[in-house]
Amino acid sequence: MSATKIIHSIPSDPLTGAISVPVYQTSTFIQDAPGVNKGYDYARSNNPTRHVLEDVVAKLEGGNSAFAFATGLAAIDAVLKLLSAGDEIIAVDDIYGGAYRLFTHVYEKLGVTVHYVDTTDAANVANVISSKTKLVWIESPTNPTLKVSDIQTISIIAKSVGALLVVDNTFASPIAQQPIALGADLIIHSGTKYIGGHSDLVAGLVVTKTEALSERLKFIQNASGGILGPWDCFLTIRGIETLELRYQKQCENAFAVAAFLVNHHAVDEVFFPGLVTHKNHDIAKRQQNGLFGGIVSFTLKEDTQEAANRFVTNTSYFKLAESLGGVKSLLCHPPQMTHASIPREKRLQSGIKDSLIRLSCGIEDAQDLINDLNQAFTAKHTSKTQNYVKS
Ligand SMILES: *Cc1c(COP(=O)(O)O)cnc(C)c1O
Repeated sequence: MSATKIIHSIPSDPLTGAISVPVYQTSTFIQDAPGVNKGYDYARSNNPTRHVLEDVVAKLEGGNSAFAFATGLAAIDAVLKLLSAGDEIIAVDDIYGGAYRLFTHVYEKLGVTVHYVDTTDAANVANVISSKTKLVWIESPTNPTLKVSDIQTISIIAKSVGALLVVDNTFASPIAQQPIALGADLIIHSGTKYIGGHSDLVAGLVVTKTEALSERLKFIQNASGGILGPWDCFLTIRGIETLELRYQKQCENAFAVAAFLVNHHAVDEVFFPGLVTHKNHDIAKRQQNGLFGGIVSFTLKEDTQEAANRFVTNTSYFKLAESLGGVKSLLCHPPQMTHASIPREKRLQSGIKDSLIRLSCGIEDAQDLINDLNQAFTAKHTSKTQNYVKS
């Protein structure tokens, strides 16, 4: 979708002409007679501000409908509620940690079985799929090693047994990747990341391909109630106004940063789908509109936690924090932060070495980001004050 179309898919207010979307901070709506209303009756079921956000996101992804939730995980949870005991999921093996926790500690207990496979090779999905498989769950690119899976090929495999393909499109964003056009049935977003884009809210979105799925998700959203409030809907809409501009700049910055890291003597391996050396570079190029995202991960030649600590506490512009996708650059050390709950052995198996560092490039000037990283390589000591003192 072009920047023009995105911006103008956000309506002005038909009632007053307000150019920005009003925040309807209300719990209920007056009815003319019992059951006779203006399209809204209670704010869990629907809210005009949320309605606008959901419409805009459905258009952004070329879907039938979209549904806004309190967090990305609440959106994932709503999709899992399509399942019954005995159903099976095939999921990408380095799935987002929070999704892994929800699958394992909530849904497996309720009788859902999850098979984790390396979906970068679609044959691995074909090998375990069966008539019990109801969902195939992929992220592309993944976190933090930026693995890329072939959405179109996997969608054909999913369809062969009538399973739904779910794509967590958080990293690619709707700017780089349109999973529904590639054959996905459902899309997940953590709106907290690129779509919100300012590190000032948590939000989640589900996009559906068909009217039948929309009806089921609408039912689940209302029945379970994990909706996004009107202020956060407003902020998410405001984020979407600049999504295209931000994402393009973040991709440019990540490209420049990846090129710098590849040539640095202290760096061992760089994970970035834009590099021709990336295992699935060709697929990324094809299915991501030539955009490779704003995230770059890398390992150090000195592959220790101490070396990583020294690096991540000595940057200035890159702030040490979880999350990603905002206008300010962030960095994190997944083994101690986002992926700390995964045992070391398992981490190493999926390529998360002790020194792995993940960068989320913001919209600063590329050269400033590179200079910041360059000086952090020369740091001799761990600093305890990274986040607060330097800026
Ligand atoms: C952050 C994230 C989520 C979870 O979203 P929250 O808004 O934090 O609940 C899900 N998937 C991916 C890929 C993420 O990065």
